[in-house]
Amino acid sequence: MTERYDVIVVGAGFAGLAAARELRHKGASVLVVEARDRVGGRTWTDRRLGRDLELGGTWVHWAQPHVWAEIQRYGLEIVASPTPERAVWRAGGRRHEGTPDELFGLLDAGMARSLEDARQWFERPYEPLACAGPDLDKLDGQSMSDRIDELNLPPVEDELVRGMWALNFNGPIERGAVTQALRWCAAASGSWQLLFEACGTYKLRAGTRALAEAMAADIDAEIRLDTTVTRIEQGADGVVVHTSSGASLTASDVVVTLPQNILGSVDFRPALSAVKQLAAEEGQTSEGVKIWIRVRGEVRPFVFFGGPDEPLTYGQAEYTVDGDTILVAFGPQVSRLDASDRAAVTEALHRYVPELDVIDIEWHDWAGDPLSGETWGMQRPGQLTKCLHDLQTPEEHVHLAGSDYATGWAGFIDGAIESGVKAARRITANR
Ligand SMILES: Cc1cc2nc3c(=O)[nH]c(=O)nc-3n(C[C@H](O)[C@H](O)[C@H](O)COP(=O)(O)OP(=O)(O)OC[C@H]3O[C@@H](n4cnc5c(N)ncnc54)[C@H](O)[C@@H]3O)c2cc1C
Repeated sequence: MTERYDVIVVGAGFAGLAAARELRHKGASVLVVEARDRVGGRTWTDRRLGRDLELGGTWVHWAQPHVWAEIQRYGLEIVASPTPERAVWRAGGRRHEGTPDELFGLLDAGMARSLEDARQWFERPYEPLACAGPDLDKLDGQSMSDRIDELNLPPVEDELVRGMWALNFNGPIERGAVTQALRWCAAASGSWQLLFEACGTYKLRAGTRALAEAMAADIDAEIRLDTTVTRIEQGADGVVVHTSSGASLTASDVVVTLPQNILGSVDFRPALSAVKQLAAEEGQTSEGVKIWIRVRGEVRPFVFFGGPDEPLTYGQAEYTVDGDTILVAFGPQVSRLDASDRAAVTEALHRYVPELDVIDIEWHDWAGDPLSGETWGMQRPGQLTKCLHDLQTPEEHVHLAGSDYATGWAGFIDGAIESGVKAARRITANR
């Protein structure tokens, strides 16, 4: 017998959890199917290197309305990452050491100038196409690298600003859309400092797992783990969702939360729109790594920072455990730094702090993971104007949701929740 639901939600990341909860609260019968053996998707709190670590999404902020509302709703606490007391940076082929203020002083002019028109184009960040037209099309054709070229910054500042954007895009800035950067900054009310704070300062004391589990518990519907969707067929009275184990599940509507880079991994019949297919084929920008590194001894809180050609562009001391220090670090391309290669990670770290003795490393290869194919979604040039509206437009009973398709804080946990809530609202409005 085929099972029938009002809505099937594919994926139990934050978009899927938000959509399923909203739908249940409106009385719809819902089934969530998730290929992994856990909820949370690209957030994953796991015990590694002697404590709980976030292998994926981590930092949240009160400037992010959707995730902040969830934190309040479930009564969770935030804690701050350590404030760095010293900074190490590489620029011009040399290593420099100073205060965090000196480092951020070198970034300030370039960051402010690279984003100075954020509110001009995106005065209301939740209406990113309000300025649609030939001028926005032209802007959207620009990469972040093109934008920085135009600034003619002094060489050290140029290198560091490129490094900051390689960090933010978690990929090559030649392939990252300037509109994506401007949208992020507009969501942070035009302040790059607020944007930077939102990206890496406050995290959930009990981990992202606590929020994902609180939302999952509030769904009051089955979340079927270890269930991979392979095909979605639309017919006159809804959808049939096929799984790799041969099950056929039917529903009036389906919410699909697959990240953009793996959207093509499900066989949609009829096929998704040409624009959705184009977005899936092109993929988005991020292809980097987040790595946790345990080093011997207690190290004074510090930050390191480098240009876009460094295998690691950013890192900071995050925890101490049993007399050792755990660092978190990011690199823009997994193809340039395989984090399973301890010698390569050690060499990349030693370019900044040669005296550190690496004990162990942990990471998850999100870009290589067939259930994500990327880290956080960052649009390529042209994708805002060509694809976003279409990606957000349902195809009859098939609704995409996910951080990659969000309007406001796209790429963040916040965007995932925003997008899931909106998909649920669209479905209930039409029932
Ligand atoms: C390394 C890293 C660091 C990040 N840092 C931050 C941060 O500090 N702050 C922040 O706000 N955001 C951060 N992000 C981004 C944030 O984690 C994501 O944007 C957000 O979690 C995405 O949620 P989602 O529900 O849209 O997608 P996902 O979490 O990817 O959920 C999609 C779900 O669908 C499942 N799935 C895929 N294919 C199938 C299938 N065929 N059948 C069934 N299920 C399937 C997947 O397993 C997954 O659980 C980070 C991400 C990464 C990877």
